[in-house]
Amino acid sequence: MAYAYDDQNIFAKILRGEIPNRTVMETEHSLAFEDISPRAPQHVLVIPKGPYVTYDHFAAEASDAEILDYTRTVAKVAQQMGVTPDAGAGYRMLSNAGPDGHQEVPHLHIHIFAGTYLGEMID
Ligand code: IMP
Repeated sequence: MAYAYDDQNIFAKILRGEIPNRTVMETEHSLAFEDISPRAPQHVLVIPKGPYVTYDHFAAEASDAEILDYTRTVAKVAQQMGVTPDAGAGYRMLSNAGPDGHQEVPHLHIHIFAGTYLGEMID
């Protein structure tokens, strides 16, 4: 089954510059910005610039260059946040997909939560 991308979703509007965001990193194919309703002391979203709904959609249809850029950007953001385990901290990556996954915005995003002990929090 094919994915239909809704170009009126809020992250598409952020990518077009129609609504503001607090950017923490931008690359050729990816954008990272602060979550507007943070659920941890540090809460950043990393999105590909291309029109992908979920991780499985992205992995199936994105170019190798987009996948490499996005994968590396997620890691670079965590390093820039200073939360990688080699810096003595830690973080959680999460990507909700579809209604059962509680995905609210239909543009692929990876959450990076950090800045406290995250325990068993899963959303
Ligand atoms: P989801 O539930 O995994 O789809 O997460 C969507 C996330 O987008 C939530 O954590 C929201 O707080 C966040 N969000 C929604 N609108 C904006 C915005 O305009 N800027 C930044 N984050 C947003």
